[in-house]
Amino acid sequence: MRIRILGSAAGGGFPQWNCNCRNCQAVRAGTFRGKSRSQTQVAVSHDGRAWLLLNASPDLRTQIEATPALHPRKAGRDSPIAGVVLTGADLDQVVGLLSLRELQPLRIYCTPSVRRILQEDNSVFAMLNRVPNQVSWIEIRPGENFPVLAENDSGLSCTAFSLGSRYPAYASPEGASSLVPEEALLGLLVGSQSGGRLAYLPTVPAVDESLVARLEAADLRLFDGTFWSDDELIQVQGSGSTARKMGHIPVSGAEGSLRKLAGLRHPRRVFVHVNNTNPMLDESGPEYREVRAAGWEIAEDGWSIEL
Ligand SMILES: [Zn+2]
Repeated sequence: MRIRILGSAAGGGFPQWNCNCRNCQAVRAGTFRGKSRSQTQVAVSHDGRAWLLLNASPDLRTQIEATPALHPRKAGRDSPIAGVVLTGADLDQVVGLLSLRELQPLRIYCTPSVRRILQEDNSVFAMLNRVPNQVSWIEIRPGENFPVLAENDSGLSCTAFSLGSRYPAYASPEGASSLVPEEALLGLLVGSQSGGRLAYLPTVPAVDESLVARLEAADLRLFDGTFWSDDELIQVQGSGSTARKMGHIPVSGAEGSLRKLAGLRHPRRVFVHVNNTNPMLDESGPEYREVRAAGWEIAEDGWSIEL
């Protein structure tokens, strides 16, 4: 399986346009020891022919242009991107769908509740269904294993599992009562015919034993690295929400992901969806060294991984 990390930052990217935190400031000044990053986006393929996007980031258009494997191959209109799996309806997971609107046939896999938010609450997504044979919406449910892009002979399959019950703030209050809690936020286990297994979890509210068991079964985990500490945003902004209230387990601390996942056996574990305020982005700092010493990597835009 081929995995491309097109973007690795949390919503807002790094630097974020209106943020003047230590990290963002240092990037703009050219003094930062580390990389700037676009908003998290991953693409996977079994053999490099048909590609599946995991979510659709607001930076998708420039991310596709930066990745030759995703460029058109035939004359006229063409794309090796054949589908998208959505893990939720947060803006940084779905806004990029609007960059895929140029009448291209695509399959979008999402839960019935996420589909309802996009198709019934937000008329702008009707641009994806202006003509016949444009976007097919395929409903998936937590706990299900489903083939993806079977029509393209993709060699990929996917298992989705529920990670949380929080819907984005923009979901209309009238529609909210019909949304199923377990369909709000998914983790994905993507498998290919070659036997490689990728666990994709850019948003993780909490880690329990069943989640650890799922991660144990994967060869590579791309895991929520949004915040270093629970009160990170409050420290930077002087106010705001905690990481846990925003649905992200912090990396550090006694109940953080580094400790909770310290027992994982298979080698490769990578943080994605890293917020611009996270001190582990600074490669000269103690947080970066702690993460690396614990056997974790921090994803960078442009990484290519083969399983
Ligand atoms: Zn910042």
